[in-house]
Amino acid sequence: MSQILDEVLKANEQYSQGFGERGRLALPPARGFAILTCMDARLDPAKYAGLAEGDAHVIRNAGGRASDDAIRSLVISYKLLGTREFFVIHHTNCGMEFFTNEVIRNLLASSLETAQLTSEGFKDVGKGPGSRAGEFMEWLSIPDQRQAVLDDVSRIRNHPLVPSSIPIYGYIYDVANGKLVEVPGAREAGAPR
Ligand SMILES: [Zn+2]
Repeated sequence: MSQILDEVLKANEQYSQGFGERGRLALPPARGFAILTCMDARLDPAKYAGLAEGDAHVIRNAGGRASDDAIRSLVISYKLLGTREFFVIHHTNCGMEFFTNEVIRNLLASSLETAQLTSEGFKDVGKGPGSRAGEFMEWLSIPDQRQAVLDDVSRIRNHPLVPSSIPIYGYIYDVANGKLVEVPGAREAGAPR
């Protein structure tokens, strides 16, 4: 068995032993909100936002971007499960700041192995062949973190399936100190209308 698989299954065994009353939690999130955030391993939304099981929806992807699929989840979150407030939370030192569509497309076209992050950005060191299928994907990289939060808050705010009554907050989590810092202009951009 892979060591990782072994570790995960052991950890789960322990977790499930102390599960107790959590087996009776309701499906809709008890505190009625949703967080869209980055998949970065340094971010633990349950800890940085004080969540317990059953409290809130957490939607994660690379960058915490308001992709079509993230919006699908947010719409399900309010429409079927009753959330009433949304947070968009990006973070400092995000990997999405270190490449562009062109860069990742070229890296993938070169090989499918893990690229190296150097002082001049990502470099491909793998053996080919790669694939040009990356040309058809929008990678939603982040040239400017504050602007990306504003763009995502605005995109959700202006989406025809998102009701105008839901406030959307925009923050950047600082990986150096664990603090959430509000993006200037995000409160206005995401205000209920
Ligand atoms: Zn990130």
